[in-house]
Amino acid sequence: MIKPSIYGLTLDQMGAWLEEKGHKKSRATHVWEWLYRRRVTEFDQMEEVNKECLQLLSDHFSIQTLTEHTRQESIDGTIKFLFRLSDGNLIETVLMRHKFGLSVCVTTQVGCNIGCSFCASGLLKKSRDLSSGEIVEQIMKVQLHLDSMGTGERVSHIVVMGIGEPFDNYQNMSDFIRVVKDHKGLAIGGRHITVSTSGLAGKIKEFADSDLNVNLAVSLHAPNNDLRTRIMKINKAIPIEKLMDALEYYWDKTNRRITVEYILLKDVNDQPEHALELAELLKHRRNLAIVNLIPYNPVDEHSQYQRSEKDSITSFYDTLKKQNISVSVRLEHGTDIDAACGQLRSKQIKKDVDGSREKVLS
Ligand code: SAH
Ligand code: SF4
Repeated sequence: MIKPSIYGLTLDQMGAWLEEKGHKKSRATHVWEWLYRRRVTEFDQMEEVNKECLQLLSDHFSIQTLTEHTRQESIDGTIKFLFRLSDGNLIETVLMRHKFGLSVCVTTQVGCNIGCSFCASGLLKKSRDLSSGEIVEQIMKVQLHLDSMGTGERVSHIVVMGIGEPFDNYQNMSDFIRVVKDHKGLAIGGRHITVSTSGLAGKIKEFADSDLNVNLAVSLHAPNNDLRTRIMKINKAIPIEKLMDALEYYWDKTNRRITVEYILLKDVNDQPEHALELAELLKHRRNLAIVNLIPYNPVDEHSQYQRSEKDSITSFYDTLKKQNISVSVRLEHGTDIDAACGQLRSKQIKKDVDGSREKVLS
């Protein structure tokens, strides 16, 4: 039997679980201290914790369920990890270095069913959701790597922007956030955590009503329905009006700023008229939206798309600025390694498939 990751339990859930099995609830705090502060990787390294309690936990849970398959390091300090899950599936996690700290981009699903036409992750249909523990463990694996370097560096920010649609795995994503935010654990502040969605309107409202209090980013990528449906087929089911309605609800409820993600695709959505249309869409909420322009990372399988020219990016940026829309251009990380999320995984799977084909042929 494959045991689930212990990192999947919030402190309350672990306390309740222990209590149900006849142990003191407070032992959970003690176990958490060893897991997240001292960061041991084996139950028998947890000193001074009741032995029966540890036996019980190790009978039901594992601390390590991910194994490192490949690690690529970029000259800019970005590290991309390819992890193997206990069922053999591969996922990606990326560590990025910024002026403001170290951020980790996590994966939430094996593949993605949204299938956006420009994205490497969507090339492979979702085979399953990740458990909350598997999402937390990605952060822990990166933190353990940093610990092993002996520099005392800490993961300070999290972006839920790896493979998958986090709002299509809502419950596990929420538990993950509760674990990493907890002051008794990694204590990563809600303002340092951003969840990105392709725009699942119902879930955006649920998120607005929740107590998660983390940042929201929305992948818009086009300012009108015709164009957005062409790029993202989800727009057929959830058109821009429905998405904007959910965002209005979110703004009313939280008064928080959201990031509007906009990938610039050459001659597709990068013209000044698109920037004007985008400004029109956001102008009534201009103090609560910041547009993040994303230079496109070319994906072999999506050769119909190219990255926009520098001049087009600049003029798009300037047009938005002139309309008093807050805008930034995403800094790129790890362009010398397979930078776009999902690329390393799809390349590895291709290699594995080709490898087995070669084996069959020889
Ligand atoms: N499914 C969620 C989160 C994961 S994708 C979402 O779509 O928002 C995270 C971000 O990376 C999204 O804005 C997505 O559009 C963007 N992205 C996907 N493929 C990309 C590529 N090849 N180049 C640049 N950004 C890409
Ligand atoms: Fe899925 Fe996001 Fe990629 Fe679209 S951009 S296919 S939603 S991971």
